[in-house]
Amino acid sequence: MERDKEFLASLETQDNGKSYASALSDVKISTLTLQYYAGWTDKFFGDTIPAGGLTSMTRKEPVGVVGQIIPWNYPLLMLAWKWGPALAVGCTIIMKPAEQTPLTALHMAALAKEAGFPAGVINIINGFGPTAGAAISEHPDIAKVAFTGSVDIGRIVMQAAATSNLKRVSLELGGKSPVVVFDDADIDYAVETTHEALFGNHGQSCCAGSRTYVHEKIYDKFVEKAAAKAKARKVGNPFEQDVQQGPQIDQEMLTKVLGYIESGQKEGAKLQAGGKRIGNVGYFVEPTVFSDVQDNMKIAQEEIFGPVQSIFKFSSLEEIIDRANNVQYGLAAAIITNDINKAMKFANNVDAGSVWINCYDALLPQTPFGGYKLSGIGRELGKDGLDNYLETKTITMKLL
Ligand code: NAD
Repeated sequence: MERDKEFLASLETQDNGKSYASALSDVKISTLTLQYYAGWTDKFFGDTIPAGGLTSMTRKEPVGVVGQIIPWNYPLLMLAWKWGPALAVGCTIIMKPAEQTPLTALHMAALAKEAGFPAGVINIINGFGPTAGAAISEHPDIAKVAFTGSVDIGRIVMQAAATSNLKRVSLELGGKSPVVVFDDADIDYAVETTHEALFGNHGQSCCAGSRTYVHEKIYDKFVEKAAAKAKARKVGNPFEQDVQQGPQIDQEMLTKVLGYIESGQKEGAKLQAGGKRIGNVGYFVEPTVFSDVQDNMKIAQEEIFGPVQSIFKFSSLEEIIDRANNVQYGLAAAIITNDINKAMKFANNVDAGSVWINCYDALLPQTPFGGYKLSGIGRELGKDGLDNYLETKTITMKLL
């Protein structure tokens, strides 16, 4: 992967439309993730358990053949999150990449072959969801399915697992993650952090910080700066060096994102930046900022998965914990403040699998990631990520 990093990054940009710089960064993080899991291959083991007159021990065994179904927003990174733990514990893999982004997985399969993985350990099956994806989730000989994608398809995968062989299921689904900015924060740092939290990867990120809550004392100033920052974001050909945002993935997502922008305007949110499609070739959307967003609006509750920042006003910690939890999702949350008491009270009470204090998107190979509520079941990354691919066998013996 290190040798072919430019090739992998250009395939990813070609396929997905993300900027070449972020594709290169995806290659680097994917490589680190696989290196991290390589370190686990000889470090997972069971316990010996006091059992009266008996001797009892547990043995960790690979679950067997695993199916892995991934989305188009981070094709290579999602592959690495899934291959790493499965291979580390000795599972074999049947992976279905998203139909929009089939390329990097194919090159990774070629690299695996070159690296010496035996035939049959890693299998890539490109195809569409209802056919190739369903074949995995319904298959009687696949022991586990790991899925990343939308809530609707997550439900279908879980149902198929239930009605076939009750295969193990882990799901990484969507989010509507709050980022809370208190009035003691450095305003420029907060504007920058919340901007990147949402606009990174064109807003096509499961843990996008898609609800920006700003304290009333700094609200107006913050909105002004956030709008200026969005207007300055460079959109265009993702292979050009200073371009930060390429096209959305496809026509379907373009239409969906523009529909949400329209809905925000209809429901009374104030458009502060962007709001339109750029040109009529490709799927480019202006970086968009809404202020005066209310919790009950559609853009406040549903995942947009596009470059649309929604800024809300709040006044107290108690209020913001309730409001942060008032969605069906629970993937990530963040708070920017110099007050450790506020930060930790928020962190302890928010429904989210990851909480970031004074930072965002700190997704490290060694730290678990996954969702509460509709955001999913199970955790990927870190030591917890291994559990998805292991069975525990208890062996108990009596000495005669
Ligand atoms: P999607 O659910 O439509 O597709 C995801 C994958 O599922 C694709 O490979 C697709 O082909 C496959 N699929 C579709 N129908 C299927 C079926 N009937 N049976 C089996 N597989 C099927 O999602 P998408 O549009 O590709 O990705 C966007 C969504 O993914 C967003 O909602 C986003 O929040 C979520 N996502 C979550 C995470 C996370 O880590 N939680 C990461 C990335 C994306």
